[in-house]
Amino acid sequence: MASRIIPVDTFDLVIFGGTGDLARRKILPGLFRRFCASQIPKESRIIGVARTHLERKDYLLLAHDSITEFSGNHIIDKEYLEAFLGMLHYIKVDAQGEDGWEELGELVRKDVVNAYYLSVGPNLFGEIASRLNKWNIATPESRVVIEKPFGHDLSSAKKLNGILSQYFSENQIYRIDHYLGKETVQNLMAVRFGNLLFEPLWNSQYIDHIQISVAETVGVGGRGAYYDKSGAMRDMVQNHLMQLLCLIAMEPPSQFNPNSVRDEKLKVIRALADVEPHHIVRGQYDLTKTEQSYRQDAENSHSFTESYVAIKTEVNNWRWAGVPFYLRTGKKLKMRSSEIAIIFKELPHSIFEKGEGEKQNILAIQLQPNEGMTLDVTIKEPGPGGMRLINVPLDMTFAEALGDHGEDNPDAYERLIMDVIRGNQTLFMRGDEVEAAWMWTDPIIKAWESRNDVPKLYDAGSAGPEDAMALIQRDNRLWREIK
Ligand code: NAP
Repeated sequence: MASRIIPVDTFDLVIFGGTGDLARRKILPGLFRRFCASQIPKESRIIGVARTHLERKDYLLLAHDSITEFSGNHIIDKEYLEAFLGMLHYIKVDAQGEDGWEELGELVRKDVVNAYYLSVGPNLFGEIASRLNKWNIATPESRVVIEKPFGHDLSSAKKLNGILSQYFSENQIYRIDHYLGKETVQNLMAVRFGNLLFEPLWNSQYIDHIQISVAETVGVGGRGAYYDKSGAMRDMVQNHLMQLLCLIAMEPPSQFNPNSVRDEKLKVIRALADVEPHHIVRGQYDLTKTEQSYRQDAENSHSFTESYVAIKTEVNNWRWAGVPFYLRTGKKLKMRSSEIAIIFKELPHSIFEKGEGEKQNILAIQLQPNEGMTLDVTIKEPGPGGMRLINVPLDMTFAEALGDHGEDNPDAYERLIMDVIRGNQTLFMRGDEVEAAWMWTDPIIKAWESRNDVPKLYDAGSAGPEDAMALIQRDNRLWREIK
């Protein structure tokens, strides 16, 4: 099937933190891939910015090496790489001082789309926004991309929204959650709202419960200092898991446009039930013969920060009344796997003899390591032996169904950056959404902090703390196996 890539308009993209980890691993290689897919006009400018003094040639070398190292299986065409590097510039700018801003203002063109990617620590977001304004660089059409974390709690998120709104209107602000850029996440919306088949079943009458799992094998090594002040609740649940929950639970928007979609997501967050203390389990990975403990990784021998959390919650509205949503996420678990599973109810009445094996239908959406969707359906086991039933997955993985576009298939960051250039905010979080998400998570975190809650230990490389298993088993259900 031929791919249909529509080039974006010529743009100038300034990457604050252009030498940092995110720029080197994701942003620069991602832009290069979009360039190779003929989506980026060669007249565009990509301007790396940081405090370190670098000649342009040094920055091109840094970009060259980053692209070579982090482009995965993408085969790098030298001619394309040379042409891409030709679009790159570097300016030494101090976000906290006045150095370099004038030069930056001279390089950024006002007659093309211009965007500012704030790939720096959150303490610099406000300073950069104010200096873009002070030096008259940004225009009312400029876009500003904000990386996570967006605040540490409700009050800091409100403060940040307040600062940004002094310089940019809401339709210029792109708060990134890269989970929303994943192909399968968007496919979830296509499956729900593009088919008649699922939507009639998408409610408490037919759905037994929902599981959202994000399991990582990595620990906090390298990010320990940051993570220890954050924990799984702030780092993963408040943003990624809640966004996924919103996409599953939201009502069909009247149109597929940014504000209609975000209005519906906001209603879900506001309808989330408060979490009872016995419906939440915090965990921290412990050392094993081969793995260090969280406390060793974070270099804090008294840390009470959670590297794992499991939650049972509900969405208090007509559609979802009584349907539990089980969320879990953790580090140093046995497998890297992210999955949303919609588990349908059992048959109201079985015409087959007991023990013949019919199971619940399950729609499973895998986000990583591989993206795909399967629908478990019950069929007759082929062959002789009477009416024995088995569950088989109907594989709805688009790569197989549609032919893998390979090189052309953008990853989450690539897609989101192209959306910024196109001016499409559908897959970005609105300010009120982020605040509502903090409003739900804040009391949970504050309760832990006020009673010095000690997380349950789990072995690094395991499936998580025992108490998390009990959380779901109490309801006569089981977590799906992390595989
Ligand atoms: P990083 O590796 O520490 O890079 C920080 C960058 O900011 C460097 O280029 C640094 O260069 C520049 N910088 C620092 N202070 C500056 C200043 N005063 N003025 C101008 N530039 C300055 O950080 P990162 O991992 O790339 O993360 C960047 C942001 O993305 C953070 O908000 C992080 O939370 C978020 N994020 C990162 C990842 C990831 O995978 N890395 C994932 C999700 C979100 P100089 O020191 O030369 O100035």
